[in-house]
Amino acid sequence: MRKLLVIFTLLLTVFTGSSIAEEWEQWRRLSSDEPQRVLELTEAQLQQQPKPALAARIYAVRAQAWRNLGDENASFQAIQQGLGLIDEDPDDVAETLLRINLVLNLLQQGKKAQAAQQASAASQAAARSQRPDLQIEASISQAQVAQSLGDLSRAMSILETLEKTEHSNNERLQMEFHALLGDVYLDAGAYHRGTEQIKTALAIARQSLGRWDVSVLLYNLGTAEQQRDDYQAAQQHLLEALQISRELNDSLGIAYATQALANIEQRQQHYDTARQQLEQALQAYQQQHIRPKTAEVMLTLAEWDLNQQRLEPAKQRVVQLAPLIEALADTALLTDYRFLQSKIAEQEGNYRAALEYFHQYSELLDKRQRALNNRNLRDLIVRLEIKQQETTNELLKKENQLQQLQFKEQQTYAYFLFTLVVLAVLTTLIVVYLLTRQIRSRKRFARLAMTDELTGAPNRRAIVEQAQRSLAEAKQQGSSVALAIIDFDYFKQVNDRFGHDAGDRVLQRFAQVTDKVLRQGDYHGRLGGEEWLLVLNHTADDHAELIFERLSQALSAESIEGVDNDYPLTFSMGFVTSQAGKDSFERLYKRADEALYSAKHQGRRRLIIAAR
Ligand code: GH3
Ligand code: MG
Ligand code: MG
Repeated sequence: MRKLLVIFTLLLTVFTGSSIAEEWEQWRRLSSDEPQRVLELTEAQLQQQPKPALAARIYAVRAQAWRNLGDENASFQAIQQGLGLIDEDPDDVAETLLRINLVLNLLQQGKKAQAAQQASAASQAAARSQRPDLQIEASISQAQVAQSLGDLSRAMSILETLEKTEHSNNERLQMEFHALLGDVYLDAGAYHRGTEQIKTALAIARQSLGRWDVSVLLYNLGTAEQQRDDYQAAQQHLLEALQISRELNDSLGIAYATQALANIEQRQQHYDTARQQLEQALQAYQQQHIRPKTAEVMLTLAEWDLNQQRLEPAKQRVVQLAPLIEALADTALLTDYRFLQSKIAEQEGNYRAALEYFHQYSELLDKRQRALNNRNLRDLIVRLEIKQQETTNELLKKENQLQQLQFKEQQTYAYFLFTLVVLAVLTTLIVVYLLTRQIRSRKRFARLAMTDELTGAPNRRAIVEQAQRSLAEAKQQGSSVALAIIDFDYFKQVNDRFGHDAGDRVLQRFAQVTDKVLRQGDYHGRLGGEEWLLVLNHTADDHAELIFERLSQALSAESIEGVDNDYPLTFSMGFVTSQAGKDSFERLYKRADEALYSAKHQGRRRLIIAAR
């Protein structure tokens, strides 16, 4: 269904559109896969009696389709019809396509001089058409003619010019270029290079062209491998070519592959099979006027006859072949022919004739060798190789650059990731640092907020909060807490006598002394001035005296800078004990303060325990 749609689209564009060159390529691709179908479709088009120029293009398509079916006779007729129409209604595109087709037809017939004429006519038409791809194709066609004429220098020179100056994305042209270059190399005896080029062409065909093109290249590759004595590879490729030709019903393709396979069968001493295959191929060649191939097969058959001591049939074939060999004027065929003649004469005992033929044979060989040794040709091969090497180098350089770019990209990405990680770590560190600093400074501020600056003891707020906490705990536990308020006696006089700084030192020392004297779990803090609050857990009234005495003794035991040792530093204390779970801080504090007031009033330097 999809294919059908494609075909109709093609038909519409090809025969109405202006750019036949591109669609021509699509048609060829289709024809290469389904030649019969192309014939049917174009037949229908012709019945609608298109204008002569358009009809000529249709005939060019049909010539190709007939070729794909292996019918060179029908192909030739289509070409003639097309060319006849161009006389009426000139069309450069149609003319180029038709003449290129004709070149291939004539070459297969062995009509090289006519092929050469057509190739240059095709080039002129292509030049007039101003279509680059057609011009390239016509040039390749000319190179092909030169190659088949044995003028490898000229073929190479055309290909070199193309390589240097022309660029096309058309896969068919790329394929044709490599295929022909391969043929030229093979003719020049450069088998390895030759097969490499053909393999390149084959890869292009497999990738982008039709099955017919693939089969032709497989055949070319197989015969090249035969020349290299690589019979295993040759057989494999030829069998594949044969398979495709059979699928396509390409009778000529079948003949080409069969003939080549016969040589392998012969080598494997399957003489009957080989002979049968050759006869089969011969029939197809004769039908289609493929004269060089006809001659080639007949020469082979004669040679096999001779090898099997069948002199008469060999002789008959040689006589039969004479006019064809003369007409074809092909050096390679003539060389083989002279060799055969020499052998036959030798077997007949006609040594003089045998020698004469052998002379001619070796002269022909010499001529071929000289052609191959042509300095011009070798220079061209070298130049083309350098050019190809350059292209390869350029390609490698590009690939290298690409790799480096990718590597750089990866590196940049790695750097980016690294930077990201470093930044993340740094940020985390900074945040952590700032947070800890903030926490620390908060703690410091908190500590400062709760600490008395002068003495380092808890300040009023801190000790009052502690008292409230202790009271709450005691309430839960059903225990009691004692509060003691301490106020220095006549502290104004201390300041007056020893100075304010000495007074400060007294306060600082008292804080230290209290810290030492109190049990763990008991607290003290500065309420302000020279007033202090003690919070004593699990303490009853009977502890009060002890605490008062210990503090008084500890203080008087201290020597304080700037204060006379014998100066009596004394204080008064108001003491109160909470009743389990009952008293609020405020009430207890008030009672302790009242007790302190009483102590002062009763002469100071004493402890008063608040009454319950
Ligand atoms: P009383 O026995 O009645 O308590 O007599 P007093 O002189 O101690 O009187 P009061 O408690 O009313 O006065 C406290 C004095 O303590 C007032 C002030 O000069 C002194 N004072 C308060 N705070 C500080 C301080 O931080 N450093 C010093 N050096 N003296 C202080
Ligand atoms: Mg006071
Ligand atoms: Mg006082």
